[in-house]
Amino acid sequence: MEKIVLYNTLTRRKETFEPINPEHVGMYVCGPTVYGDPHLGHARPAVTFDLMFRYLQSLGYKVRYVRNITDVGHLEQDADDGEDKIAKKARLEQLEPMEIAHYYTERYHDAMRELGVKSPSIEPHASGHIIEQIEMVKRILDAGYAYESNGSIYFDVEKYNRDHHYGRLSGRNLDDIVTNTRELDGQSDKHHSFDFALWKKASPEHIMRWPSPWSDGFPGWHMECSAMSTKYLGEQFDIHGGGMDLMFPHHECEIAQSTAALGKDSARYWVHNNMITINGQKMGKSLGNFITLEQLFTGNHPMLEQAYTPMTIRFFVLQAHYRSTLDFSNDALQAAEKGLDRLMKAVETLGKLKPAADSTADVKELDRRCREAMADDLNSPMVISALFDWVRIINQAAEGTQRFTAEDLEELKSIVNRYVFEILGLRNEKAADAGGKDMVSPLVDMLLTMRMEAKANKDWATSDKIRDNLTAIGIRVKDRKDGFDWEIE
Ligand code: ZN
Repeated sequence: MEKIVLYNTLTRRKETFEPINPEHVGMYVCGPTVYGDPHLGHARPAVTFDLMFRYLQSLGYKVRYVRNITDVGHLEQDADDGEDKIAKKARLEQLEPMEIAHYYTERYHDAMRELGVKSPSIEPHASGHIIEQIEMVKRILDAGYAYESNGSIYFDVEKYNRDHHYGRLSGRNLDDIVTNTRELDGQSDKHHSFDFALWKKASPEHIMRWPSPWSDGFPGWHMECSAMSTKYLGEQFDIHGGGMDLMFPHHECEIAQSTAALGKDSARYWVHNNMITINGQKMGKSLGNFITLEQLFTGNHPMLEQAYTPMTIRFFVLQAHYRSTLDFSNDALQAAEKGLDRLMKAVETLGKLKPAADSTADVKELDRRCREAMADDLNSPMVISALFDWVRIINQAAEGTQRFTAEDLEELKSIVNRYVFEILGLRNEKAADAGGKDMVSPLVDMLLTMRMEAKANKDWATSDKIRDNLTAIGIRVKDRKDGFDWEIE
């Protein structure tokens, strides 16, 4: 298997990736809390870990990719008190919480399909794994790292920190956490403000509740990922991913829970994508720059100058390394749109190139560059930059200043297909929605063949008439040395 390196957030360095089982990779990524329309903030982790999923599969690994759906336990402000995000939405809309969860899960799936994000291998719901979560809470209690208080169970952070280091992932120490958390107001059942809930007793008005040995209640937000990753990937697995914003407290708490319950770290490589900003600002409802994916696809938002296709968004995300910040602006998206268009046109041009007796460029160079870039912590911008160097070479070949043997042409096509479609996961949207082009192709080709015959007969009037009429209906004709080419504008 090819040697690849990944940046491990836990050790803060790049490490050679060695899965526990040499042929199988277990990968867990924190998915969405389904109480609102999918937005830009969902696009980046989804595309990042889709790239990782596709890439590992292309290397020959069998990947079990688990991405959860949070449909219970995620309270407002990511805190231990406050209303459940889904229950709140259900109350406001007078629906069942599961209607909310179902509706927004479907919306999320639709948007992901548009973005070319493959479905994970398993997509477990938190509400479907209450028993597993209760069992894990019991193990943490048995290990002595949690306490019961008035029907709720809290994680004993101070005790855990004496035996392990709480804050290892996010680079914090308990002392910093103590000074940065507010004092308890005396109403809380917790011993310390930094303790977090594993199980919460439900108040009378709380509708999402399940029986447990301690109370009728619901699991703490962090429990689901520890319980479901263990269930589907085992006590130790290879990659745990998510957005950087989940590092603390969510992932820090997951590590503490798994270490307390299982006696070891669950994940070997922690991978975090950086955040998205909009015109340099964090995205937030209060800032008026909160953009859903549907608004991006339709252009229906005051900040948007136009609609952007799903592939423009995907390409834009891939143009930055996943650990860099990514700033959305109309200018940047329009540039991505043009770049993607050039790339797709070059792919079409490549399909029409005629073989020559010799080659003027080494097609293996493209493969080498793309392979090395991906193996170096999924460096998609370097892959794209190598592809663009070859867009130029392909266009030169169409003009007759470069040429390839039949064998090299086939190899070049397979390299381009592998990186553009299989690994980067892009698709040619113009070719797709002009299912168009496929149906009219034979007709246009026939007219242009007639035009060539007219030209051969020096019948310039007919030749010009065919070209002008095609131009009038949006088909641009390009004359080539040995024939013609055309595209739908
Ligand atoms: Zn999680």
